[in-house]
Amino acid sequence: MRLPVDIDGSRGEGGGQILRTSLSLAIVTGRKLRMRKIRAGRKRPGLQRQHLACVEAAAKLCCAQTTPLEVGASELVFTPGTAWAPAFSVDIGTAGSTTLVVQTVLVPALAAPHPVRVTITGGTHNPLCPPFDFLERVFLPPLRAMGADVTVTLEKHGFLPNGGGRVVVETRPSKLKPIELVQAGKIVARRATAMCASLPRHIGDRELAVAQERLDNPTCELLEFPKDGPHNLFMVEVELESGARELVTSHGRKGYPAEDVADDALDDLEDYLEAGVPVGEHLADQLLLPMAIAGGGKFRTLAPLSQHATTNIDTIREFLDVPIRVETTGMVADVIVG
Ligand code: ATP
Repeated sequence: MRLPVDIDGSRGEGGGQILRTSLSLAIVTGRKLRMRKIRAGRKRPGLQRQHLACVEAAAKLCCAQTTPLEVGASELVFTPGTAWAPAFSVDIGTAGSTTLVVQTVLVPALAAPHPVRVTITGGTHNPLCPPFDFLERVFLPPLRAMGADVTVTLEKHGFLPNGGGRVVVETRPSKLKPIELVQAGKIVARRATAMCASLPRHIGDRELAVAQERLDNPTCELLEFPKDGPHNLFMVEVELESGARELVTSHGRKGYPAEDVADDALDDLEDYLEAGVPVGEHLADQLLLPMAIAGGGKFRTLAPLSQHATTNIDTIREFLDVPIRVETTGMVADVIVG
């Protein structure tokens, strides 16, 4: 009989990631999850629409039973089932982030005994969340290197305030294996993308002009979405010799010049490049779960680790008996799993 796991959602970061990691690991380990003080560290605590969608997706994936799900609920009991769903859909119903629902179900779906197809409707490029492009081009390559057989498809972009985007995740049964991501190297590709949803094109043009000025010959793309938004975002992406990738995003806001939006992302990219590490801040917290499930791995990232990453390490330790060590030297941290 596997023991239930009790999680205090107010610890560390006190946000939605503790819930998502706990759901993923409850599925993978088959252990019942009892969670309280959900997102107690946030201004609007408890389960919001996006988090309810994560619970719904997790429950559908493994035919789990849950306590009744209500907006604002601060407690949850999640009892994983013994069957796996081959295909299901989740509609967040707001512009809540589809990629955070993906973060909940993608890694556990690899443990299913058959292919799984999940369709998620909501926002695809939200502030404070991985944009779809990050998921596809930064998170997936190392996950595939670990042995994951997975594809993600962006069927429709979705922006604040209405969402309506659609992402499809397809997994085939995969056993994850340890990998090491410690090399960085020179830049071999640079790309900048500006998205303007119901906002004038000159905003994106100005953002891309800053990218042209600050980067050496980047590939630039301006995407317009006249029926969505209003929203603007700017993404800048690099690939390094070692195959490592980083994609940094900034979002436009009223009264904040487009040039400053671009500079914010480019400044963050400079910090990453100066540190000479392969794994950026956000990838660091997201790689911990698959590496812990693989039972090992190592990556080099920026020091100090974000609170998201340290909280994720604490949450993983509640479920799995896998050692996770962090060794810091100046601006660089080595995270050693297993
Ligand atoms: P809350 O509403 O409680 O703040 P949340 O459910 O929105 O929580 P967090 O707990 O804050 O989520 O976790 C956000 C996740 O999104 C983390 O894994 C973080 O690394 C990731 N993330 C945030 N911004 C980016 C970004 N620009 N690029 C890639 N990943 C990002």
